[in-house]
Amino acid sequence: MNYVFPPAVQVVLPVAGGDAVFPVRRVYCVGQNYAAHSVEMGVDAREEPFFFSKPADALVPGGGDIVYPPMTSNLQHEVELVVALGKGGANIAVEQALSCVYAYAIGFDLTRRDLQARAKEKKQPWEMGKGLDQGGPIGALVPVGEGAHPAGGAIWLKVNGELRQSGDLAQMIWSVAEIIAKLSSYVRLAAGDLIFTGTPSGVSTIVVGDVLEGGIDGFGELKIRLVAPGQR
Ligand code: MN
Repeated sequence: MNYVFPPAVQVVLPVAGGDAVFPVRRVYCVGQNYAAHSVEMGVDAREEPFFFSKPADALVPGGGDIVYPPMTSNLQHEVELVVALGKGGANIAVEQALSCVYAYAIGFDLTRRDLQARAKEKKQPWEMGKGLDQGGPIGALVPVGEGAHPAGGAIWLKVNGELRQSGDLAQMIWSVAEIIAKLSSYVRLAAGDLIFTGTPSGVSTIVVGDVLEGGIDGFGELKIRLVAPGQR
């Protein structure tokens, strides 16, 4: 192939317990999937969740140093269960949806909240609030064993050792199966797709120097540090 320049490197995620890596295709996110977070965002908790995307190359496998992004003075954290698909399809039935899941992981949906708020106010897209460079730190994928789909389990995030988010996967308004089914009614899903499934309440502003640690029962932990531009 006579490329005019070398194509971008395929984004891959490590898989826990081996040396295999997972090639990422698309990254979807669910908005407002925990009632208490919907309330803190000032929206009706009964509203149907909706979807947005992050660029795949915004993922930061394994976390580590994250450069504080430009054009914001209100960067916030959202700790989320991430679903990694091993197969896809269109119009997937809820009953079939979990068979598409290859693995789960912990991820942080980093958000320029001021840009998102301005976009909401002006009825503009959220893209620049959500699609920031390095805006998706993510832990190693934990493959699904027999019956290992999480129906519940603690999900938490600490900033500088102080607990900010503490929820349970059982609090999700839409289950993983329902999310996959619903999303697949809008777009054809495929192996390599990731879905960030929404965050519990407790989101807050973070600044340069902050250390964030999060975890999900059975799906590992993730740690990042915010550094000033030029420091990395
Ligand atoms: Mn989110």
